[in-house]
Formats: sequence, C-alpha cells, structure tokens
Amino acid sequence: MFSKDEKLIIVSNRLPYTRINDTDWEKSAGGLITALDPIAKKKQAIWLGWDGYLKDNYDLSSIKLVNTQEISPNGEEGYQLGCIPLSEREVDKYYNCFSNQTLWALFHYFFEKCALDHSTWEVYQDVNKKFAAYIDQVAGDDDIVWIQDYQLFLVPYFLRALRPKLKIHFFLHIPFPHNDIFSILPWSRTILESMLCCNSVGFHHRQYLMNFEGAIENHQLVNSSSQLFVNPISVNFTNLDSVSKTDSVSKRCEQIKQEVGKCKMIIGVDRIDYSKGIKERLLAIESLLNESPELRGKFILHQIVVPSREAVESYRGLKREVDEIVGRINGTHSTAHWIPIHYHYHTVSFEELVALYLAADIALVTPLRDGMNLVCKEFVAAHSDNDGVLILSRFAGAFAELDACLVVNPFNIEEIKCSIHRAIHMPKEERVARMKKMRKSVQSHDIHSWLKNCSVYFGEKDFIFS
Ligand code: UDP
Repeated sequence: MFSKDEKLIIVSNRLPYTRINDTDWEKSAGGLITALDPIAKKKQAIWLGWDGYLKDNYDLSSIKLVNTQEISPNGEEGYQLGCIPLSEREVDKYYNCFSNQTLWALFHYFFEKCALDHSTWEVYQDVNKKFAAYIDQVAGDDDIVWIQDYQLFLVPYFLRALRPKLKIHFFLHIPFPHNDIFSILPWSRTILESMLCCNSVGFHHRQYLMNFEGAIENHQLVNSSSQLFVNPISVNFTNLDSVSKTDSVSKRCEQIKQEVGKCKMIIGVDRIDYSKGIKERLLAIESLLNESPELRGKFILHQIVVPSREAVESYRGLKREVDEIVGRINGTHSTAHWIPIHYHYHTVSFEELVALYLAADIALVTPLRDGMNLVCKEFVAAHSDNDGVLILSRFAGAFAELDACLVVNPFNIEEIKCSIHRAIHMPKEERVARMKKMRKSVQSHDIHSWLKNCSVYFGEKDFIFS
C-alpha cells in the first residue's frame, strides 16, 4: 500500500535545469526531460542530478533543495531539484571518459572507440556512490526512487547497501548490447550485480531485455527479485499534433515551404554523435547526386545538428568532418538557385522544430545504433496532414513500432540512396497510408502510456496516477 507521504524521486545525471551562475538557471532540452517533466510536476517530485556547475569543495549534508517555481521564468512548475555537486576532475573522468567514451561507445556497438581505463572506472564508482549517499539523505522509507540511464549504473548497488528496503527502480535509455559485446567490459559483472539490486529495470526494446538476461546467465548470476520489463519511451502525441495545427506553426511551415520552393524537403535532426550516422547519411546524398545529376534542384536536406559533448575530442573531430563533407557537397553540386544541404549547427525552439517537421516531405533518420530515437516519433506526430515519408534505420529502437517506414540499413549507402529515390517519387496514396499507420502507433503508445506502464511495472499504479 502507498501512503500519502510517499514521494517520487527521479535521479538522472543532469538536472532538467542548468545553473548558469549563482542565481540564474536555464531549462534544458532533450527527450528524457520532456518525457519526465510532466510527471515530476504532477507528483511534485524531487529530481536529483548534476546542475552543470563545477565545484571543488562541498559538503553533501549542506545541500538544499531548490524549488523550480523560484527559478523558472513562468513560475508555474512545482517540483524540487537536488543538485549534486561535481568537480572538474569528476566530470571529466566520470562523465566525459567513463560514461561517454567507455559505456556509450560499447553499448552502441562501437567497441573500437571504447576506452577501457581503470582510473576512470574508479571515479565513476566514486560519483555513483556520492549520488547514492545523497539519495539516502533525501529519501523517506516509503519513497519511490527512479534512476535513469547508464551514467548511474552503480547507484542501485551503493543505495541498496544503505537502504535494504527502499523502492529502487531503473530505466535504461540506451541499448543493452549482446553479451559478446557487453562482457568486453572488465567491470561487466559489477554492473549486472548493481542492476539486480533494483526492484525493477526497464528497457526500450525486447532485444535489450533479452541481451540483459543473456548476460546474467553468462555471468552465472541469478535474478531473484528484479522485475524486468520492456516499455518503449514515446512522445507527447497530442501536444505535437495540436502545436502543428496552431496559426503560428502553420504560418511558419508555409514560409519554409515557400523558401524551399518546388524541391522535396528532407529533414534530419540529430545531436552530433557518431552513433547517429550523420556522416554516412551525407555520403549517401553525395553519392546520389554524383550518380543522378537529374536530381539536382529536386530536393534539399535541411540538417539540424545539435551541439553535444564538446569536451570530448572525438565529438569535435566528428563536427569537423561533417562540416567538411557538407562544404564539399555544396561546393560541388550547388547551382545559382539551389543548395543541396542546408546545415544548421545549433538548437532550435520547439515551435520551429514542429514547423520544420511539418514542412518536410521526408525525414531521414539513420542512426547506426540508437536506443530509441524520438525524432522519428516527433516527425510522425507533427504530421497532422497525414502526409510525409519516414526513412528509418533498422538499428533504431523505434523501428519496432514504426514498421510502415522505409527501413534502411544505415551502413548500406546504396540502400539509403534507393530509399531517398523511392521517397521522392512515392505516390501520395502510399505516403498517406504509411503515415496514418505510423501515427496510429505513436498515438496509441504515447508518453502518457509509457509513464502509466512504468508505474504498473513498479507496482505503483495508484501512486503515479492518483
Ligand atoms: N531536440 C531539442 N532541441 C533541438 C533539436 C532536437 O531538444 O534543437 C530534441 C528532439 O526534439 C528530441 C531530442 O532532442 O526530443 C532528441 O532525442 P533522440 O531520442 O532522437 O536522440 P538523443 O539525442 O536523445 O540521443
């Protein structure tokens, strides 16, 4: 039974707000925050994580919770933030190195990019222990602790040692790789043992859960008490659909269409990350234009690249490569009135994004590996006109729900080229039939049903939805 006093405690590496100086905060963007923000508000939750500020000396017991009402510009939001301080060294070793260069690389099957360094693992453990110590201070006995993602794999282990009866749940937002890959990690067993300290562990895809079970078996461990479940995260369909019908978005959409003229507009929206397949996608466009010069002037790619992990050299290197490829394609193929790649290296507002999705005839979503990918679901939800073609990688978790897309192997440039060709020439009837099917799928499993399903698996349906 739940009691009225129980709280929801969300724990993630980054908080939904970033501290920009001693007094000012900025709301952060991204799929996870958009997904969890409504439930944090509804349950007046406590959200624990790093606020983006570097601090060398701190005392965990002196940390105070910050009410979001005091820091958000509209003052509407009512949940509390607990900021876990991190030093420059911790951010470098725990976040930039171990989380991103080891776990992210390996879990997305880029084992050649994966750094295995014992010193970064040690700092990763220390930071996870610190998160656990802070949760222990904040959490009451009946509270529900919900830990998010791979940066915090060891928090359940440290927290369980402190609080044997606490309700601890975990959701993994990236793929869980096959054991042949996972067990390359010298610390694979410790990670599994920690995850088995949770009351539940959620995954986006059946394959990730099966891989996790395979790893447990291979490491000769037994899962005696964790509820494992599959529940693909989704988007706020109703909101995207209704924003796409507002006057301001319709107007902006028309303006974009006028600028694009008679060309088909292809959209790409990705964080700069090698797992997103941005380079491969651009090379496919280059090859298409080399081989089919008649397509000049027939389409443009509007590519938004969101800056990410700029402290990691390989990400800066990728940015340089992408810049170079875009420059080469535009330099070679542009005409007096037409530029093939419209490249934007910055974030865009939510309304602008919806207008771009709606204006686009085709979305090109070709990650080499992606736990879920929300961009493709947003593209579908924003197409309230029931038109538009989605070209989607078979290695995105979202493919399981969007099989009316044109599916591609993102490593196969020939296949991407054929799909672009097919999308450009697809008759309206087929486009509409496919889009309607995909919209139905996203609508029937939107962000609300994701949250509801999670709470059912927690055994807390009444709490989350009371
Ligand atoms: N997004 C954003 N600002 C932008 C462009 C995109 O916040 O300028 C959002 C986008 O709407 C989506 C998220 O970033 O919700 C990207 O999520 P996805 O699952 O596709 O990839 P991730 O970056 O989480 O790997």
